[in-house]
Amino acid sequence: MSATTESERTPRPPLVGEPLALDLVNTVFIHGGLRGSPVDALTTPTELGRWLDEHAEAFPDGLAARGPATPSHLAEFRRLREALRELSRSCVAGEPHGEEAAAVVNRAARLSQRWPELAPGETAGPVVRWAEEDPYLALLGVVAVSGVDLLTGPRRRDLRACAAPGCVLYFVRSHRRREWCTPACGNRVRVARHHGRHRG
Ligand SMILES: [Zn+2]
Repeated sequence: MSATTESERTPRPPLVGEPLALDLVNTVFIHGGLRGSPVDALTTPTELGRWLDEHAEAFPDGLAARGPATPSHLAEFRRLREALRELSRSCVAGEPHGEEAAAVVNRAARLSQRWPELAPGETAGPVVRWAEEDPYLALLGVVAVSGVDLLTGPRRRDLRACAAPGCVLYFVRSHRRREWCTPACGNRVRVARHHGRHRG
């Protein structure tokens, strides 16, 4: 079985469309409800490439052209993911940012440096130049900055850990009545409450 076939069989994260930093954190999820098992959708360089392709619209132009991801790219994204999960946890708990996790995010955030330049001989433009030449590391930087924005901006007050039993996802409460990461989690909680009432 080829690696591609294997990664196509991996269940996809049930929640996407949160800030990039949370979409990265949410690549670890529980599949199969309360008795389900944890899934990590980011275990191979191929899966990293797929995740980045799926989020292409959220990234600045000019980073689409890139070769295959390497194991070291994967390791960097996984390290950032762990740091962002820890910082999301502490944010929800009202605790200060952990030093180690913040250092990982800050180091990655510096990779997002870019500036516009004039293109000689052209009236169009500008051309965007990146300080980091490896597009994967530049993308890592963009995800890290998304985390800094989320954890320091007004949206941090709406950051939530889904409270449904067996769920590990984070989301930004987009409207006042949103309690769960996805409708599936809400349904599971309602069903559990219903059974609880009838048993009791
Ligand atoms: Zn949930």
